[in-house]
Amino acid sequence: MKRKILLIGTGGTIACRKTEEGLAPSFRSEELLSYIPGTSDFCQVDTMQLCNLDSTNIRPEHWAQISRTIEAQYETYDGFVVCHGTDTMAYTAAALSYMIRDSARPVIVTGAQKPISEASTDARVNLRDSLLYAADPDSHGVCIVFDGKVIAGTRARKERTKSYNAFSSINYPYLAVIQDGHLIRYIPETAPTAGAVRFHHDMDRRVYVLKFTPGLDPSILTWIFENADGVIFESFGVGGIPDYLAEALECQMGRHPEKMVVVATQVVREGSDMTVYQVGRQVKRDLNLLETYDMTLEAALAKTMWILSDPEIPVSCRAEAFYRTVNHDLVQYGAGDH
Ligand code: ASP
Repeated sequence: MKRKILLIGTGGTIACRKTEEGLAPSFRSEELLSYIPGTSDFCQVDTMQLCNLDSTNIRPEHWAQISRTIEAQYETYDGFVVCHGTDTMAYTAAALSYMIRDSARPVIVTGAQKPISEASTDARVNLRDSLLYAADPDSHGVCIVFDGKVIAGTRARKERTKSYNAFSSINYPYLAVIQDGHLIRYIPETAPTAGAVRFHHDMDRRVYVLKFTPGLDPSILTWIFENADGVIFESFGVGGIPDYLAEALECQMGRHPEKMVVVATQVVREGSDMTVYQVGRQVKRDLNLLETYDMTLEAALAKTMWILSDPEIPVSCRAEAFYRTVNHDLVQYGAGDH
């Protein structure tokens, strides 16, 4: 029996046509599939269209639409491929990693840097590779398949705006590569037990990311703490918090002890460790905040949005939930943080 795959269209460059106003998504998922001959040799594909958007416009309601669709179709299909724009693909893959946990069935997010109808394009290879990976019985969970690489859903970052190798796996190896249709696994995926999958469709949107820049006005923290449920600060280096912001942070956290506060680093690779320098260590010691360590910003944001919206995670268990590894999102964390 051929494995059954559901191909879900959401838009993106892969589905774009040229218009006088610039590229705009218009191909539906069945049209995308018509560009990939021979898929019936290795799987049986059905198609579904959820929206047709430039991923600039994808929001948490679209993540929920995708995860609800997969939940509704979970018993009917062996795997899912979501065609998506590249610009916010890393956020969507991270969000789906928390919205669909412990899935034995693979959920692949893919797209392209060039429309599928162009003579020279990465779209056809990416889509074919994604279907191949989704049809493999050893594939599980949420990942991105792009430019011959398989990236855990929590580890992707769009690093290039134009080249075909747009995505990198940050602080984690590629799970696999696909070369000329051959799948080579570097990190074998352990299959979650059947029935272990858990769906969670809500995300708390009141989570903000603030990038520290030299001389940032500390009064911005007042607005953020009054309006956010959670906030992620992109600090300097391994986790440096300027003295003039640390004071405001302490004051706001004293006023709003229920808010979830996370310190990330604006350096893409190698992660945070706030204990290295005095400018981070004192803040970490004195304030009840979390740090991202080797997680990506996209994963930290989605994880915070999930934790704050999950009624099964009380305030007292937020740190434990944040530091528990989900879909390869976190490998290193500090002693005493778990
Ligand atoms: N702007 C497009 C999008 O994210 C870019 C792409 O798909 O490559 O939908």
